[in-house]
Amino acid sequence: MGEVTIVGGGLAGCEAALQLADRGFQVRLFEMRPETPTGAHKTDRLAEIVCSNSFKSTLLDTASGLLKAEMDVLGCELVPVARENSVPAGHALGIDRDLFSSAVTEKIAKHPNITVERRRVDSLDIPTPAVIATGPLTGEALSQALVSHCTREHLYFYDAIAPSIDGDSVDPAVGYWASRYGKGEADYLNIPFTRDEYRRLIEFVRGAQYAQSHAFEEEKYFEACLPIEVLVARGEDTLRFGPMKPKGLADPRTGRDPYAVLQLRKESREGSLMGLVGFQTRMTWACQKEMLRMLPGCSDVSVLRFGTIHRNIFLDIPTLCDPYLRDRTRPGLHFAGQICGVEGYVESIMSAIIVALSITAASHGREMPAIPKETMIGSLMDYVHAPRKNFQPMNANFGLLPSNGTGGRRTRQTRHESAAKAALTAMETYRRENPWLFP
Ligand SMILES: Cc1cc2nc3c(=O)[nH]c(=O)nc-3n(C[C@H](O)[C@H](O)[C@H](O)COP(=O)(O)OP(=O)(O)OC[C@H]3O[C@@H](n4cnc5c(N)ncnc54)[C@H](O)[C@@H]3O)c2cc1C
Repeated sequence: MGEVTIVGGGLAGCEAALQLADRGFQVRLFEMRPETPTGAHKTDRLAEIVCSNSFKSTLLDTASGLLKAEMDVLGCELVPVARENSVPAGHALGIDRDLFSSAVTEKIAKHPNITVERRRVDSLDIPTPAVIATGPLTGEALSQALVSHCTREHLYFYDAIAPSIDGDSVDPAVGYWASRYGKGEADYLNIPFTRDEYRRLIEFVRGAQYAQSHAFEEEKYFEACLPIEVLVARGEDTLRFGPMKPKGLADPRTGRDPYAVLQLRKESREGSLMGLVGFQTRMTWACQKEMLRMLPGCSDVSVLRFGTIHRNIFLDIPTLCDPYLRDRTRPGLHFAGQICGVEGYVESIMSAIIVALSITAASHGREMPAIPKETMIGSLMDYVHAPRKNFQPMNANFGLLPSNGTGGRRTRQTRHESAAKAALTAMETYRRENPWLFP
């Protein structure tokens, strides 16, 4: 096995490095932090999780649960580390982000086949095989090199982070612990709103001040991660039918669902750092402070991190790459992570596994065996690769799976369960039939 260059020591870069190193490749991993910071990373650690600390659901009848189960079959490295460093979050895989990134950094440092070089890469003039995994906040010079390489404008959109507060500063007489529909442990601290309180919040969001985007960049958000101000602009009730949905969160003191609910999720094991679920915003910090203090039970709230806005770039992968994220014009160049048009932490890690398999196949002089279409991974890769106008990043969801033709009267959960079973069987068969691809 030869050398592989990986640019970017984020989630995708670290997964790719471990996958390839375990297969005997000598990996050179370039990471620009701490010398060149990004607008979102706070530490010099590898695989830093920059916003929500959730790897989403662990349930097999959910898209993200199935995705992780398929990744386990393919021998994923980072999701098991996440499990080892999890925090209670009901059926979600919540992570202590400091413990997680420290554990990954140590794992990489200890691997005899990986050398980490802390410097920024500014061009695509690098030895191949290579993996570009520089994420949504790719360094400026490399971004420009990618624009030239693509021969067309690469795409971009904005994403926004939710604020985090000290959970202990929420009045315990107002907040209550519960998980939606009582599923699993009561891991969320819920802040109930009356109709009047909700309306006051909506009025405030409408009148607040917001950080401006650069004039030359049009604002484009990912539909599943819209800032609250964008939701509020769509209508007064959009927020309470979205992230503030009260259904299944009955207040134990009244026995009834409130008018609206704001959920807080633990972001550290100790549980005092809590993120506002679905409350990403680009409101100015002064306005955020005012808004957070007007939430029920939060007059003395301590804000630990404000929400922010950031640039989030991704490439026009269908034009640029083959189905396994290999550049069509530059043999040996691969893309992994958010930059390749998948959306989310787990999806980014998944794409790195695919790239590692593809590099392994090439090193054997063989074609990459197709990932079965009935799997979540196969469907997502299929989506990412299908040519379309206005290509937008995608996360795992059951809508991507081929229909099994037996929808009918069955409940959605039953359909998902049987699709998940079929997907896992297909993935296990894939692994069994292609032992040469695996360490
Ligand atoms: C502010 C923000 C909030 C987000 N919130 C969420 C969320 O809540 N949930 C979710 O699922 N996803 C979220 N995402 C998306 C998330 O970043 C990705 O899902 C995931 O981190 C992508 O993994 P990656 O490996 O592609 O990129 P990253 O994890 O960002 O890793 C890329 C790495 O490359 C390094 N790098 C960049 N350019 C260079 C260069 N030229 N040379 C060397 N190194 C370089 C960076 O320093 C970084 O360490 C968010 C992204 C951002 C930026």
